[in-house]
Amino acid sequence: MAYDNENVFAKILRGELPNATVYEDESILAFNDIAPQMPVHVLVIPKRPYIDINDFSANGTIEEIGNFFAKVGEIARSLGLDEDGYRVVSNNGENAGQHVPHFHVHILGGRKIKEGGMARGM
Ligand code: 5GP
Repeated sequence: MAYDNENVFAKILRGELPNATVYEDESILAFNDIAPQMPVHVLVIPKRPYIDINDFSANGTIEEIGNFFAKVGEIARSLGLDEDGYRVVSNNGENAGQHVPHFHVHILGGRKIKEGGMARGM
């Protein structure tokens, strides 16, 4: 499957759609989810065009992958989530219900997730 340049996160990265930026550097953008499932719901994406974690883990460099996940933790700490805890979720492909085909992780926090609650229906 080829990367779809018209997905919403590609449009956000090109500045064609607005976003509420939480963090940005040369390789990563983090922004508030448009339909938050939790008091804090931030999406973190690499700027390079990876479809999902399968693509990112297979084709990203170790430096890129390491930097990405280090930044996920840094962003969560900057949001004050580290003390009470938070969830990091990545939906990949159809079975997981991935809606936007640009690799992203969700950072979810700000309240307790009910036992057994997954990314949706919390
Ligand atoms: P997925 O289902 O692919 O794991 O998650 C996609 C997420 O992107 C959803 O939580 C959805 O609310 C969010 N989303 C979809 N379109 C937009 C948009 O245009 N802006 C922002 N900020 N979030 C979006």
